[in-house]
Amino acid sequence: MSLAAADPVALAQSLIRCPSVTPDEAGALSVLEEVLAPAGFTVHRMTFSEPGTPDVENLYARIGGAGPNVCFAGHTDVVPPGDTAQWTFPPFAAEIRDGVLYGRGAVDMKGAIACFVAAALGHLERCGGQLGGSISLLITGDEEGPSINGTAKVLDWLRERGERLDACVVGEPSNPHAIGDEIKIGRRGSLNGELVVFGKQGHAAYPHLADNPIPKLARIIDRLSTTPLDEGTPDFEPSSLQVTVISAPNTATNVIPSEARAKFNIRYNDLHRRPGVEEWVRQQCTAAAEEVGARWSVSFSGTGDVFLTRPGPLVDTMTEAVRAVVGRVPRLSTSGGTSDARFIQAYCPVIEFGLVNETIHQVDERVPLSDLHTLTAVYERFLEQFFTRAAGS
Ligand SMILES: [Zn+2]
Repeated sequence: MSLAAADPVALAQSLIRCPSVTPDEAGALSVLEEVLAPAGFTVHRMTFSEPGTPDVENLYARIGGAGPNVCFAGHTDVVPPGDTAQWTFPPFAAEIRDGVLYGRGAVDMKGAIACFVAAALGHLERCGGQLGGSISLLITGDEEGPSINGTAKVLDWLRERGERLDACVVGEPSNPHAIGDEIKIGRRGSLNGELVVFGKQGHAAYPHLADNPIPKLARIIDRLSTTPLDEGTPDFEPSSLQVTVISAPNTATNVIPSEARAKFNIRYNDLHRRPGVEEWVRQQCTAAAEEVGARWSVSFSGTGDVFLTRPGPLVDTMTEAVRAVVGRVPRLSTSGGTSDARFIQAYCPVIEFGLVNETIHQVDERVPLSDLHTLTAVYERFLEQFFTRAAGS
């Protein structure tokens, strides 16, 4: 193992220089394989397919044959850079200025992957190969996209092989301002809905001969938007429904359209599961539609059910590692969007801890080199504590 390979900054630069916008691998998984295989990891590369979605490459690497198997999960795919002219440096150049590394994926989340690899290699070096279990990496190229040919299918593959994960850290950028702010111990569920209200097309001057669906749609979405689902729980914010799109297939101001549509997104807490949320929506639609005499239908999509990893060994170990390195006790949070942790939670306890999320998906996404070193130290301390604790139990 070369020293350069264990340097999180050099590794983050190598990863950023692969323009791996979803679903392109662009060499990013090869960069990891070239570091992990010589260090003794068994590396599996797998491509998954599904009709109607692009093929996506994924990687699972493991060192050690015994349990417990602590897994680090992440994604090498990135969102598009947008207008590259607005960037201070080209988005895939991985330039460093004044101690800050610029590039798409610097914090979401090639930087954290580099930190974890560096921490794992550092830990292996210190324990002289006497690992108290196994370390694995589950890296997908399909987190920012449809998330169909990524983590969910790697987990199926692991299950078929009888490969067990005992604990998982997802390296998503969990910290609002500084490393050590927050560990994510859960996520709200996310559900998309589309409501269609049916009417009858006609001339705007002869409304009695038509049936305008737009005011009826408005009444229904008003009820959906203003009826609280709940008041929150000790671990979660109140659930929320946000209408995000309204449309009618119509361009003429003198024509009443035959239908009107609204799309909405619901973020729901641990008082609910998806079937209950769908039922709640139908009840609200039924009640509002009865008042205005609307014909309607609703359909749902979305894969992210709510989860919560209760405080326990995994949360405690990361909390202790953060406290030891940065001298602060992180908040345990469930706010923010979904991540692949929503798939992993069905297999083992999972938390998220990574870099600072202030510049994710933005022009000039960037990370201070000091953050990369701090996060590497936190992960290394976490691995040490994790195996110490496992040996003692
Ligand atoms: Zn991410």
